[in-house]
Amino acid sequence: MKGYAPGWQVRCCKCGHTRDAGEAGHIRIAAWSWKRYVMDRCPHCRWFWFQAVERKPKQPDQTDSA
Ligand SMILES: [Zn+2]
Repeated sequence: MKGYAPGWQVRCCKCGHTRDAGEAGHIRIAAWSWKRYVMDRCPHCRWFWFQAVERKPKQPDQTDSA
């Protein structure tokens, strides 16, 4: 299921926990997005605040042909 652009991750501003942006699928429908930040709850520390959306470093074992 493709919704969000691949190669992006969401980083918690509190604990630094990162997760795949596609994994946190609700981001694409979330209204609370501002620039490169989204309002979201971190699954790691349960901190509900802005999470930084940033580009992931390319995975060497991932084919990006499609
Ligand atoms: Zn966190």
